[in-house]
Amino acid sequence: MSYDVNIARVVKKYGQFKAVDGVSVGIKKGELFTLLGPSGCGKTTLLRMIAGFNSIDEGEISFDQTVINDIPAHKRNIGMVFQNYAIFPHMSVFENVAYGLKARKLGSAEIAKRVEEALDLVQIGNFRDRQPAQLSGGQQQRVALARAVVIHPGILLMDEPLSNLDAKLRIQMRSVIKKLQRSLNITTIYVTHDQEEALAISDRIAVMRNGRIEQLDGPQQIYEQPANAFVAGFIGTSNFLAATLLRQDSAQGAEVLIAGKKKLVLPLKRPVGKEAVVSVRPEALELGEPAADELNGEIILATFLGDYINYEVALDNGQSIEVNEFAKETLRVREAGEKVAVRFQPAKIHLFEGTVKEASA
Ligand code: ATP
Repeated sequence: MSYDVNIARVVKKYGQFKAVDGVSVGIKKGELFTLLGPSGCGKTTLLRMIAGFNSIDEGEISFDQTVINDIPAHKRNIGMVFQNYAIFPHMSVFENVAYGLKARKLGSAEIAKRVEEALDLVQIGNFRDRQPAQLSGGQQQRVALARAVVIHPGILLMDEPLSNLDAKLRIQMRSVIKKLQRSLNITTIYVTHDQEEALAISDRIAVMRNGRIEQLDGPQQIYEQPANAFVAGFIGTSNFLAATLLRQDSAQGAEVLIAGKKKLVLPLKRPVGKEAVVSVRPEALELGEPAADELNGEIILATFLGDYINYEVALDNGQSIEVNEFAKETLRVREAGEKVAVRFQPAKIHLFEGTVKEASA
C-alpha cells in the first residue's frame, strides 16, 4: 500500500543556516514527485528528513495522516535508491535483493517468489546468480531498484539514482524507473539536479532554491509557464532581455519596450516594476529580414542539430541570444555574418520582475 506524504512547514537548520526553509507540499499516493534544483538547494536534506536520516527541526512530515517525525528510519517502510547503488559486493544479485526480506523473517518460498518478481520487474532475472562486480553500472542500479521495491515499501525515495550512468543509459533507465513506478503505483520522491531528467520522469516537480520551493507544477507547466526568472533560467534554455514598461493595463496586458527597441503588448500575469525582464525560449523566436522597427542582429554561429539549427545571434545592442529554427520543408543553414531580425511570438514571452543580470545569474 502506497502512502501519501504531507510535508508541513518543514525546517532543517545547520547552526543559523536553514538548509530547508519552511517547505510545505502534499505528495499524492502513487505520484512520481521530483525535487529539482541546483547543488546546495536543500533537496537531499529534505529527502533525508523524509527517510529519517536527518532530524526535523521544525514542522511535520506525515505518511497517510500519521506524523512520522519521531519514527526511526527503519520503521518508516521506505525503499531507497542512491546514486552509488549501495549494493553488497560480496552477495549475489539474488542475495542482495533477498536481504531485506530475510531481515523481515519471511519464509524462503515467499522470499524466492518476491525476489523473482522484483528481478523480472527490472528485467534482470537472468543475472540472479551473478556477483555485483560482474554487472554493468546500469545492471547494478537495476539490482538496487529491485532491492528497494521487493520489501513492498509505502514510499520509494531516490537520490540522483542515474548520476553515475553514461548519457545513453540514463535515458534508458528513466523509462525503466517510470514503468516500474507506474506498474507498482508506488509513491515516489525523486531527487535530481538534471532538469531534463525531471521533465522526462515526473508527474509533478518542485523546483527548489535556497531551501525553498520556487514553483510546484507539472513538467509542461514548469517549462511553458515558469513562475519567475530563476525557474525560466534553470529549466531549459531561456534568453533574457531587458523590458521597459510603457503602459500597464490589466485588461490588455502591458506594453513593453524590449531591449530598447521593439514594442510589444504582452499578457501581464503578475505585477512588475517599470524596469523588468522578459524570458523567451530559443524555439519561440524566429529569424527574418532586418527591418527598422525590429530587433536586428547578426548570426555569430550556426550549429546544425538534425531537426533544427541553433543560432547564436548578436543583437545590435551587443547582447547575444539563442534562436532555434526547426525544419519545415528544407532547412537552410544561415551563414555567420548574415544580418537578421529576431521576431517573437508574444504568447510565448514571459515578463518578470528583475534585471537581465539577475535573471542570467
Ligand atoms: P547536491 O545536489 O549538491 O547534493 P542538495 O540540493 O541536495 O545539493 P543538500 O545536500 O540538501 O543540497 O544541502 C543543502 C545545504 O545544506 C548546502 O548548502 C549544504 O552545504 C548544507 N549542508 C548539508 N548537510 C550539512 C551538514 N551536515 N552540516 C552543515 N551543512 C550542511
